[in-house]
Amino acid sequence: MAHIIKTKAFVLRTRPFKESSLFAVMFTRKNGKVDVLAKGCRRPKSKLCGTLEVFNLDEIIYYKRETKDVYTLSDATVIDDFEKIRSNVRTVNSAMVLCEFFTKTLPSEEQNEEAYTLLRTFLNTLREIDHTFAKPLTLYYLLRALSGAGVQPHLDSCVTCRRAINSNTKKIDFSVAAGGIVCERDFDDTVVYLDRETVNTLHQIYKKTDVDLRKMRFDEIEEILPDYLYHHLNNTVLHSLKHL
Ligand SMILES: [Zn+2]
Repeated sequence: MAHIIKTKAFVLRTRPFKESSLFAVMFTRKNGKVDVLAKGCRRPKSKLCGTLEVFNLDEIIYYKRETKDVYTLSDATVIDDFEKIRSNVRTVNSAMVLCEFFTKTLPSEEQNEEAYTLLRTFLNTLREIDHTFAKPLTLYYLLRALSGAGVQPHLDSCVTCRRAINSNTKKIDFSVAAGGIVCERDFDDTVVYLDRETVNTLHQIYKKTDVDLRKMRFDEIEEILPDYLYHHLNNTVLHSLKHL
């Protein structure tokens, strides 16, 4: 007997399978991340044709037979293709960053309403804003998504010994490996000096209050982010960050 599921889902990633099919990683609302096989969907006459563009929001139906591990996509309808995002290479790259992040970090088949809503809000905002703000917006949402995955820098005291840190200095020592600000005694090889404004920006991101991207400082965050991800998220590398 087949178990049939109907749900909304974002397309996170696809790869060709055989001549005319695709494997797709979907972020479903009901069951979190799910891998599906879309048989024959690259044929022009397929009813699935065009539904599996990355970051499309679809209504999908998929099922698993008891004897097979792979889910089969039996139907998909595009709810939103975020066309305006696709008209600019910068916003496309931005959307790819969050898709790659969720592809690599979400556990399979675990509902995650918070992350699903975050991705939806991110894409809706990305389509509305001036594309020159695409990068700060993406970094903002990526850090929020990271926080949702349980990875957030420690900023209130020394991450290692918990001593208070003088907050009047302009530059603050941040250990990428330890994952937070550090006092002089707990220096390591990965310490970078962050501007006070950068640390304030991080505070704002995690407070989840209304933020003004124009007043936030992302350049240093962008610089340390690849190493930070690698250290704190099981050696994860986000290739799409290079094109942001
Ligand atoms: Zn310390």
